Amino acid sequence: MPKRKTGFVFDELYMWHDSGGGSFPTQPSAGFENPETKRRFYNLLAATRLLDNLESIRPRPASEVDLARFHTHEYIELIRQLSARRGGDAGELTPFAAGAFEIAMLSAGGVMTAVEEVVKGAIDNAYALVRPPGHHAEPNRGRGFCIFANIAVALMYARARLAVDRIAVVDWDVHHGNGTQLAFYENPEVLTISIHQDNLYPMGSGAVSENGSGPGAGLNLNIPMPPGSGVGSYLAAFERVVVPALYKFKPELIVVASGLDANAYDPLGRMMLHSECYRRLTNMMVRGASDLCAGRLVLAHEGGYAESYVPFCGLAIVEELAGLRTEVCDPYLELVQSRAYQELQPHQETAIERARELLTRIK
Ligand SMILES: [Zn+2]
Repeated sequence: MPKRKTGFVFDELYMWHDSGGGSFPTQPSAGFENPETKRRFYNLLAATRLLDNLESIRPRPASEVDLARFHTHEYIELIRQLSARRGGDAGELTPFAAGAFEIAMLSAGGVMTAVEEVVKGAIDNAYALVRPPGHHAEPNRGRGFCIFANIAVALMYARARLAVDRIAVVDWDVHHGNGTQLAFYENPEVLTISIHQDNLYPMGSGAVSENGSGPGAGLNLNIPMPPGSGVGSYLAAFERVVVPALYKFKPELIVVASGLDANAYDPLGRMMLHSECYRRLTNMMVRGASDLCAGRLVLAHEGGYAESYVPFCGLAIVEELAGLRTEVCDPYLELVQSRAYQELQPHQETAIERARELLTRIK
């Protein structure tokens, strides 16, 4: 029996979102953001029978009222109209085909449903394997494959309707969580933390100096890491910055933007993480949530484009959430572990220390 009751959000429709195959003018291809990595992650959970030990959660779509807590009415209407015809582009690098509006509403709604079930106490924690992703979306435009800001929408719903005010977001996607940062930049009750490859995407976004403003001053932490960062640097960043920030802030709920594109095989990122690193990071979040907020923890899927490797990283994360181990071994683990420079390097430590100096500003 699992140690923890872990909810799992998935819907076949998430795999039907057609991101138009390639965001750049190029030879026709499936594009980076396609269903394969997520479908194979789901398939591995099924094949290992881990899925049988999870609480299946049927996502309900976000309503327009829910979306409008973050997005403008004009933008919501634009996506609806384009989606009803032949599709279009939500803004920057976010092409979509007909029908994307409803699937994107179900994606944001999937994170909302997971948050709701965890807050109600029906489950201990949850993983929402949603698509399209959300953390780059802004109020009036989609960016980087993201149409609606799944996590921001879910957290605004939680604050408006579930009486959960103090929330912390930890974004470990290799890209900067600019949309989530923007949503709560001046909010004194939401701590947003993003660890990402320095100036990867969006360009010019995610500097350590972006530290929140007004009543939210000090409550946005960016940890931009040099390309080539490995397990040692991520563990150090979590031990020295992310976890202490959470304990200082004392949230009522922790949400992780779980992009799996900091793994060693990702075509869009240049980091070196492996499945055991994701397991350890998840363990830190589980322990933090247990100490701080009765275990309330939701992971919402974001990016991750290595179709062979995302499933093994995802499996390790969900195993750790549920407190279970399957018999499956990550066949790539030894190869990635043995890469040179996996341990913390001086220039990476400098980047971490720069972010650590900001801990004193958290109230
Ligand atoms: Zn990403």
